[in-house]
Amino acid sequence: MPRADAALIEQLGLIVGGAHVLVGRELTEGYSVDWTGRFRGEAAAVVRPGTTGEVAAVVTACAAAGVSVVPQGGNTGLVGGGVPRHGEVVISSRRLGALGPVDVVARQVTVGAGATLAEVAVHCAPYGLEPPVDLAPRDSCTIGGMVATNAGGTRVVRHGTMRRHVAGVEAVLGDGSTISHLQGLGKDNTGYDLAGLLTGSEGTLGIVTAVRLGLVPVLAERVVVGLAFAHLAGAVAAVPVLVGGCPQVDAIELVLAPGVELVGSKLGLPVPDQLRAPAVLLVELAADHEPMAGLAAVIEDLRLAHEPVVATDPAARARLWAIRERHAEAINLLGPPLKLDVTVPLAETVGFLAEVDGLVPGGARTVVFGHLGDGNLHVNIVGLDPSGIDDVEGGVLAAAARRGGSISAEHGIGTAKARYLHLVRGPAELAAFAAIKHALDPAGIMNPAVLLGLPGGRS
Ligand code: FAD
Repeated sequence: MPRADAALIEQLGLIVGGAHVLVGRELTEGYSVDWTGRFRGEAAAVVRPGTTGEVAAVVTACAAAGVSVVPQGGNTGLVGGGVPRHGEVVISSRRLGALGPVDVVARQVTVGAGATLAEVAVHCAPYGLEPPVDLAPRDSCTIGGMVATNAGGTRVVRHGTMRRHVAGVEAVLGDGSTISHLQGLGKDNTGYDLAGLLTGSEGTLGIVTAVRLGLVPVLAERVVVGLAFAHLAGAVAAVPVLVGGCPQVDAIELVLAPGVELVGSKLGLPVPDQLRAPAVLLVELAADHEPMAGLAAVIEDLRLAHEPVVATDPAARARLWAIRERHAEAINLLGPPLKLDVTVPLAETVGFLAEVDGLVPGGARTVVFGHLGDGNLHVNIVGLDPSGIDDVEGGVLAAAARRGGSISAEHGIGTAKARYLHLVRGPAELAAFAAIKHALDPAGIMNPAVLLGLPGGRS
């Protein structure tokens, strides 16, 4: 694919205004490396359109020149899908941050793709509503990026992933045309679900410019409970008991001793003595009244290693959540990690993690945590010899697939996992993916290294 030349960059400047086209390493560096530092490249230019019309004009110009683009929101993605690894033009959505009126009857809001999750939450809070999906990088990740990755996060056990809540999208497709269907009607059987198709498409079909997002009521009371177990198997067995016995469960998160030790030692986080155990579940319960109702009876059935830790006030809850949410940050301090985000059926969790242990060579360090309530494990490995990374990565992903799981639970395929997609998607599915891609992005300029990968298996 050709790189953007001076004539194209000048044309992009005429579309969005010269101040919104960044060129040169110094200005584009922050857009060219991912959050982990593992994926990097050099953007030919970073373009920051301020309207959907400008996005359409930018995409049309790039398509005419045959120049590839990478859509980017908050750049918190973890699979190398939002950074220009091959010198592409980055199209940043951050100026598309409009926040529309909150529809309290439909429980929906229309927002620009560049609005962050935290901005939308603050905007909706006065109406007693909030986005159903919540993630640790809420101050940076954008609604467009969350749609593009079908983000999951901590509350999937109650609310599902983004896909369930996308009531409509506006997007510029790879050919520069704009589709818009933002009415958010409860019933609307008028053809293909284009919003569903764009959700999880990782910027390979088009650029999401606005989203009609479903909202859920803010629940008045929240409690976080830390449950310690002597064995991983005990924590796994507790999940169906908690889900079945406590309808007010919002999140069931797993941390293991090595990760808890790491956030304590690297970040100085206080860890209650009762949570010093091989496996810990952080369970969040939310309701308008008595979020703990039913929990006492359920806890009696669990074999806990210590007394539970119960946090009710916001500061105490935040302290417990920090132990889980700051795992990624603490791991990054050890060096760029190999991050593998997989789902395995609950019954396979213990066997899968034992297999992972066998695949990781001595000298490397493995830290596992995740959203155990929905079977999602984040396997982080630091200190691998570069020559051994492919074997470990391929082995772990193949193990997840063989056990009936997924090679990407919530982060997406990106460039990182494109060559492993065949482990979980058959030839007919991959051919359908390619046909859809060609139909909506005929010049093949939209994030070409992502999902299906470049010709020859490169990504
Ligand atoms: P980016 O990183 O900018 O982009 C991600 C992908 O979406 C790229 O392929 C990009 O091309 C595409 N894209 C971005 N914007 C658009 C657009 N407007 N139109 C089309 N394509 C677009 N993810 C979870 O699901 N659950 C978690 O719990 C979670 N926890 C995290 C914790 C940490 C500490 C970090 C750093 C990340 C975590 N993530 C998690 C990953 C990340 O936050 C999500 O993938 C998020 O949805 C990315 O949003 P973003 O705006 O940063 O997108």
